Amino acid sequence: MGPLADLHRKRRVTEPHPQLKGIGTVSTASLEIPEIQPSPRIQSFLSGAKQLLIGGQWRNAASGETFPVFNPATGETIAKVAAGDAVDIDAAVRAARAVFDDPKHAWNRMTPSQRGRIIWKIGDLLLENLEEFAELESLDNGKPVGVAQVADVPLSADIFHYMAGWATKIEGNTIPISVPYAPRAEFHAFTLREPIGVVGQIIPWNFPLLMAAWKLGPVLATGNTVVLKPAEQTPLTALRLGELIQEAGVPDGVVNIVTGFGETAGAPLAAHEGVDKIAFTGSTEVGKMIVQAAGSNLKKVTLELGGKSPNIVFKDNENLDATIAGAASAIFFNHGQCCCAGSRLYVEQAVFDDVVSGVAEAARKIKLGPGLAKGTEMGPLVSDEQLQRVTGYLNAGQEAGANIVAGGQQRGDRGYFVSPTVIQDTREDMSIVREEIFGPVVVVDPFEDIEEIITRSNDTPYGLAAGIWTRDISKAHRVARRLRAGTVWVNCYNIFDSAMPFGGYKQSGWGREMGHEVLDLYTETKAVCIGL
Ligand code: NDP
Repeated sequence: MGPLADLHRKRRVTEPHPQLKGIGTVSTASLEIPEIQPSPRIQSFLSGAKQLLIGGQWRNAASGETFPVFNPATGETIAKVAAGDAVDIDAAVRAARAVFDDPKHAWNRMTPSQRGRIIWKIGDLLLENLEEFAELESLDNGKPVGVAQVADVPLSADIFHYMAGWATKIEGNTIPISVPYAPRAEFHAFTLREPIGVVGQIIPWNFPLLMAAWKLGPVLATGNTVVLKPAEQTPLTALRLGELIQEAGVPDGVVNIVTGFGETAGAPLAAHEGVDKIAFTGSTEVGKMIVQAAGSNLKKVTLELGGKSPNIVFKDNENLDATIAGAASAIFFNHGQCCCAGSRLYVEQAVFDDVVSGVAEAARKIKLGPGLAKGTEMGPLVSDEQLQRVTGYLNAGQEAGANIVAGGQQRGDRGYFVSPTVIQDTREDMSIVREEIFGPVVVVDPFEDIEEIITRSNDTPYGLAAGIWTRDISKAHRVARRLRAGTVWVNCYNIFDSAMPFGGYKQSGWGREMGHEVLDLYTETKAVCIGL
């Protein structure tokens, strides 16, 4: 176990957020939760052993331990998954290292074009199995199956297709050099872009398949090898993806998948001295632990962390209804469990009442239910821990004097449902305004002045995303430049594309996912200088 052992803070399920425990009580309103059986195909997948993928072999954890995976709509166990720990992480890192260090290995002898074709095939296989992946993701994470069908799975396939093209385009430069102490000598200087080595990747539960795809796509395009640790709440689609990766022809040992807990599998991966780079998506709190753990061998680190993104509505809207729909979707998409959720809605005073009542009405209309139920627009939160966390924030906000305009309730007596919630009358020092809630909860506040709203928007330790709604093109550009955020959406929100880099300023992270920027973070640059 690495140096993180003493630092682990991870709460297990049912423990409320420590700072919010015991304040007030969020009421529970009824919610009918229909019994839904997964399809026979998914039932058959779930009934099989859910093992670790190490060196091309599916195997139990060395300890023999497993842990349960829950359906968040009911709280019932749907699968038992191998609980990998430091021993398994070490075996997986050794498998990845053995491949990387062997120049004769098929992975290292493969041409970039062959590599690209295999990566493309993974994208194709995902699309061929779209329905199955969407159903599995919905069951495991709780999101509506229709959303997984149109967003999670196609976007995951697309990043593999996009990265497949890059495999043949990772190029260095030739450099004309002027060495002052060798004026008469001639040189040929150039750079090579080489894979970093063994990469450790730790991903969260909000977009389980998509996060795996965002991480594995660039790893494969750049010729690295990898150990991936999915989130304990949602390991299932990553394991199924492991099967597709094998089917696509990725050689054994290139992609290793170790399911397990953050403290016992994630931490040893972050600290492992055989890992050359660690890429993490999750909370800022754990991100800081990863940085400390990476100090063991100064491995490279990239982080995609939390956010508290401002979404600014100016009064000069041509179509306020579309803006209201956009602002509602900015926070309620994926149940607010998005690192870039538009969770601070700032509205120019002249249209404040209209926008608040419009977003509140949209919130009230959202149909809650299990992700697999017909007509569900919002599923449960992912876990009991998230339910406690979100309701804890709702309590804290009300205690501090904020008023709930819509929602504010836990729903149903099983599963982890919370009503989409709109809160007003907040102050900037409230925890609901400053901290990432990671649930369907938006705080709304009016503003009068453009300078004021830029300052307030940037007054956060985070800097992941921001939204601007205006028809004034000049204002849109001026405000976009001033916002300290990795992505700024204007008259839209939550638009992602494999070609568009995504990541955070400030404590929202280091580095970028997607686009060609991500390739720099998976390659080393080697300068070669030849005396002629
Ligand atoms: P974490 O940051 O704890 O989890 C993210 C990943 O890190 C999981 O795979 C987790 O493993 C792993 N992990 C946890 N502890 C360690 C550790 N000490 N060393 C290495 N890896 C570790 O997020 P939570 O699931 O606890 O969610 C809490 C909050 O984090 C959310 O409410 C939200 O605010 C934020 N979050 C942000 C996300 C983002 O996209 N930026 C995504 C998810 C959460 P395991 O889950 O198996 O314990």
